[in-house]
Amino acid sequence: DLLVIGSANADLVIGVERRPGPGETVLGSDLAVHPGGKGANQAVAAARLGARTALLARVGDDAYGRLLLDAQRAAGVDTGGVLVGGAPTGVALITVDPDGDNSIVVSPGANGKLTPGDVRAARNLFHASRVVSAQLEIPLETVAEAVRSLAPGTRFVLNPSPPRPLPPEVLAACDPLIVNEHEARVIIGDEPVGDEPADWARILLARGPRSVVVTLGARGALVASTQGAALVPAVKVDPVDTTGAGDAFTAALAWRLGQGDALADAAAYAARVGAASVTKAGAQGSYPTPEEVAAL
Ligand code: ADP
Repeated sequence: DLLVIGSANADLVIGVERRPGPGETVLGSDLAVHPGGKGANQAVAAARLGARTALLARVGDDAYGRLLLDAQRAAGVDTGGVLVGGAPTGVALITVDPDGDNSIVVSPGANGKLTPGDVRAARNLFHASRVVSAQLEIPLETVAEAVRSLAPGTRFVLNPSPPRPLPPEVLAACDPLIVNEHEARVIIGDEPVGDEPADWARILLARGPRSVVVTLGARGALVASTQGAALVPAVKVDPVDTTGAGDAFTAALAWRLGQGDALADAAAYAARVGAASVTKAGAQGSYPTPEEVAAL
């Protein structure tokens, strides 16, 4: 039902007292290795909710690639579309300081080798999907080819992260375009814009998407289309770790849209999933089952 096309990364995390300066070495905590990457996160989040989910991605022919594939399979994701080889598996080198602030270096590796040709070769996955969900940790030309490959009636959901300016054909396909504040500002670009999410949504809608969702962290999400805009309030929780909340939100929203929910209803469900995910540490490990969503 849901096809996620996007990145898969191994997140390598070390806690540090402080970051090294140029030429300096510091000692840190034991290494933790977690499956990550926005595409892989979304696929796991959707599958854990019970969605029939396939992932179109590329990993290296190496130990991290096998770790990522194992995590997808354990969550119940169809990994038939995960391609292997061409470059080492994508990696994020993450240091976390005592304040909880991250510094991250990403090596896209195999994610950068997911090509428009790979998308064309996955035609059967596109035809089997009601919703296709993408992000921007893979080449933009690959996302554009995904838009061209949509079967009639298939809905396209895009979280443009990390953000960059988008071509009109990609913007026009989004239903919705899902952005946080930072992503909204980058995509809006030079056009003057104030501090009101409703204004960002109005400006973004004028660029072509059929609908726009602005996620606002603990304030919830703004849902906007030509029908008007509405705030979906956040569910009150004690946040432990907000890593991957946006990916959980997007996955839940995409799945519920494919199940026939109206956008506002899908966003309300997604807000519950996003809230549940911030009550646990990590990204994929924090994603809730339907029972955990219901218990919120
Ligand atoms: P991103 O990680 O992309 O910046 P957000 O932080 O806006 O995305 O989180 C996505 C969604 O997850 C929010 O719209 C909200 O519904 C939910 N969420 C995130 N943080 C919290 C929080 N602290 N409390 C409750 N819900 C949250």
